[in-house]
Amino acid sequence: MSLAQRLDAVRARIARAAEAAGRAPSDVELVAVSKRHPLSSIRQAYAAGQRVFGENYVQEWVAKADALAEELPGLRWHFVGHLQRNKARPLVERGAWLETLDSPKLVRALARHVVDSPISVSIQVNVAREPQKSGVLPEALPELVDVVRGEPRLQLEGLMTVPPAQVDPHMARPHFAQLAELARVHGLPSLSMGMSADLELAIAEGATHVRVGTAIFGPRPA
Ligand SMILES: *Cc1c(COP(=O)(O)O)cnc(C)c1O
Repeated sequence: MSLAQRLDAVRARIARAAEAAGRAPSDVELVAVSKRHPLSSIRQAYAAGQRVFGENYVQEWVAKADALAEELPGLRWHFVGHLQRNKARPLVERGAWLETLDSPKLVRALARHVVDSPISVSIQVNVAREPQKSGVLPEALPELVDVVRGEPRLQLEGLMTVPPAQVDPHMARPHFAQLAELARVHGLPSLSMGMSADLELAIAEGATHVRVGTAIFGPRPA
């Protein structure tokens, strides 16, 4: 299959899952996670109509974003990797949506660089309480929500999670349900959850953004 065909297949999966959940397919935005894939793959996805891309590593992403900015108008970036505070500036300057906000210190580091319109952020929640994973624990979420809502240079869009990698994708579903409940409690509209293996389950639990890499771009180069 070509990249355009794989992208079509992912769009069809999203549409079917949305319809099965009684939702409009247009309620679910596809974030094409292009980490470790070359510019040529991003160009192919763009040619097939994809506009929203996700990246994990600041250096790699900055190089790609700057290489493509003039060539591919209307590209939008979501940063889905862990962001160190000293890397806040390149992210703000390029207007990316940060999906992995996880500390008040990072809120302040980002806000310092915002000059005009606020930047979009989602808070990453470690719903499965994995010791080595980024994101706030559920009990720390209310405090961070307050901090972000008190900072007008950041627009709090919603929540994001990366559940534990499992052989059986159904194991992720309770974590998706928990993230959806936390978003509901805080009145947050955006829910970023679901990847190549489990996007249907995430959409069934209310995902508004699915982050899909492998199913579009194929296996990541080492
Ligand atoms: C790599 C990555 C994805 C995409 O995962 P696939 O299984 O390749 O679809 C989604 N979200 C995050 C945070 C990632 O790092």
